Amino acid sequence: MTAHIVVLGAGYAGTIAAKAIAKQSGTRVTLVNADDRFVERVRMHQVAAGQVVRQRPIAQLLAGDPVAFVVDRVVGIDADRREVLFADGAPLAYDTLVYALGSSAQHDAVPGAVEHAYPLATGPDAARLRERLTKGGHVTVVGGGLTGIEVAAELADTRPELKTRLITGEALGAALSERGRRHVRRVFDRLGVDVRDRVRVAEVRADGVVLGDGDFLASDTVVWTTGFRVPGTARAAGFAVDAHGRMVVDRTLRSVSHPEVYAIGDAAAVQRQGGQELRMACATGLPSAAHCARAISDRLAGRTPRPLRFRYLNQCVSLGRRDGLIQFVRADDSPVERVLTGRAAALYKEFIVRGALLSQRHPALVALTPRGRERQG
Ligand SMILES: Cc1cc2nc3c(=O)[nH]c(=O)nc-3n(C[C@H](O)[C@H](O)[C@H](O)COP(=O)(O)OP(=O)(O)OC[C@H]3O[C@@H](n4cnc5c(N)ncnc54)[C@H](O)[C@@H]3O)c2cc1C
Repeated sequence: MTAHIVVLGAGYAGTIAAKAIAKQSGTRVTLVNADDRFVERVRMHQVAAGQVVRQRPIAQLLAGDPVAFVVDRVVGIDADRREVLFADGAPLAYDTLVYALGSSAQHDAVPGAVEHAYPLATGPDAARLRERLTKGGHVTVVGGGLTGIEVAAELADTRPELKTRLITGEALGAALSERGRRHVRRVFDRLGVDVRDRVRVAEVRADGVVLGDGDFLASDTVVWTTGFRVPGTARAAGFAVDAHGRMVVDRTLRSVSHPEVYAIGDAAAVQRQGGQELRMACATGLPSAAHCARAISDRLAGRTPRPLRFRYLNQCVSLGRRDGLIQFVRADDSPVERVLTGRAAALYKEFIVRGALLSQRHPALVALTPRGRERQG
């Protein structure tokens, strides 16, 4: 009897891992997801802005691959019995488990945010925000990281009748180069996004936000984009996790506490050579999934897997549909002064986003996705 490999989460990382493991090892693979549609999370700001984004059936992405697909919500993992527990179905036994449950919004940092702010991390978040924005009026985006920048630009570009404001505790685009920051600022000026930087939101109310200095800014809708959190499933199952609940893995993506378990994507605390933890992103999730598949196939075949070696290449930021910023970075993700901007950058970003989806059909394409890459040798 061949080993049964169960992959939890059919997002960017899990789908690729399931397909690649089945192809490389020829073993029995089951992919599990709460929903039967593939959610392109990197397009959620477009969905919120009212654009039509087609959600593909996961079964279509798996067509032709020997991967069984189960649609059910994982409610727990019994690590001793090696079983996955579901909301509806019977427990599913595994020999090897790949944990790829992704992340959702972390929006409980200040009083009132859970009650009144709109997070934007998942498909349901985007649908809810889109519905809310039919009201029009003032929109305040909280968070000046890449997600906050993309959301504010998309809303201002697609819905110019909205009055869009962005609030960030640091400088706008703090992690970008000087040239990158200048470009974002120029685009925001052109699109009419009102930026309040170096201020903190202390409270969210039904009618706006209270700032750290006590000022109140009226707003019809507050969008919260300051971070992602991972599900508590790994911690509850007794797997080794870090302070954020991400599963701690070695550089073959294998759990440091349970050798029959692997973790990839946002839900895993993956380290590159030198110990730097990879940030939550498609750019890191796709190569980690491809590497995990190889490590599992190697072990099944009695080979010793190589450790992951990864380098960042660039950060791709959409600024509406007609502009963008490609920020080139060093291997450790720190920015250099080289950027690509304007329509060429928008096209490049669109190419990357399409590539991430196409890789779900053809996992071998991951090696060609020029955002972050496994480094050979
Ligand atoms: C607006 C926005 C823009 C972004 N832009 C970029 C970008 O430009 N570049 C970039 O690199 N990254 C970007 N990201 C981040 C990127 O989307 C995530 O890092 C990526 O989706 C993580 O992939 P994953 O496979 O780990 O998780 P996911 O893609 O979230 O997949 C997890 C899967 O697990 C399923 N799942 C979760 N819980 C359960 C459960 N209990 N039972 C069953 N199934 C479950 C989910 O339904 C989902 O299908 C963006 C994110 C957002 C929200």
